[in-house]
Amino acid sequence: RPAESKLMETTNSSSMIATPLTVNGEVRGVVLLTHAKRHYFSYDSYRLLQALTSHIGLAIGNAFLHAEVRRMANRDMLTELYARHYLDEVIYECQNRDFCGALIVIDIDQFKQVNDTFGHQRGDKILKQVSNIVKSTIRHSDIPARWGGEELAVYLPGIEIQQAVQVAERIRTRVAEETDPRVTVSCGISEWNWTNNKISVESLFYRADMALYEAKKNGRNRIVVEKAETV
Ligand code: GH3
Ligand code: MG
Ligand code: MG
Repeated sequence: RPAESKLMETTNSSSMIATPLTVNGEVRGVVLLTHAKRHYFSYDSYRLLQALTSHIGLAIGNAFLHAEVRRMANRDMLTELYARHYLDEVIYECQNRDFCGALIVIDIDQFKQVNDTFGHQRGDKILKQVSNIVKSTIRHSDIPARWGGEELAVYLPGIEIQQAVQVAERIRTRVAEETDPRVTVSCGISEWNWTNNKISVESLFYRADMALYEAKKNGRNRIVVEKAETV
């Protein structure tokens, strides 16, 4: 009695051989081969299928590895946020494609003191906590990155400054409520739109950084928006 097989049914076959597809020693699938004639496959054809399938497994394993290396190259290891160079690239592309966008730069307040009080390892943990708050506050299309040591940045494509302020405010309040040991953050925000005569990644960062500087000067744990453009 022939074994039941959907593949044999749909292909109207009378013979089949099968071999598991393993990737890095794990079974990830199966390769089935059918033929119209009965008793068509020999043991040699089975061995050939096995050899081919092991090559397929190797190729898939390499593709996984390649994808993982690429993913990691764009990430910061500690926070698992994007790396700065990736954020730069994304903003550059967005400025060629979109009509507007906003940048939030986030800096942990008195972080040196936090490190001095609790040690660098606890400091790292707080940095991760803040990063996780940022990640879970923003939308899927927004790009969170580690901009520097304890400075993070989020680019919001197609967003105007009023909305960016709301996002930054959610991040600021959540950080002040949820971090342990408790820290606060200051934020600087800048925006660009297609009517600007000088659009560049550098200018966007520069203006957000200036706003951040104001936030620090004005007492920290606050958000400052870039000064209106003076033409
Ligand atoms: P301010 O409110 O003005 O930002 O004060 P601050 O102390 O946070 O600012 P400052 O730039 O003087 O110092 C930043 C400190 O952040 C210096 C360094 O000890 C700490 N830091 C930077 N990167 C890391 C990191 O990856 N892990 C830890 N634990 N600390 C870091
Ligand atoms: Mg700093
Ligand atoms: Mg700081």
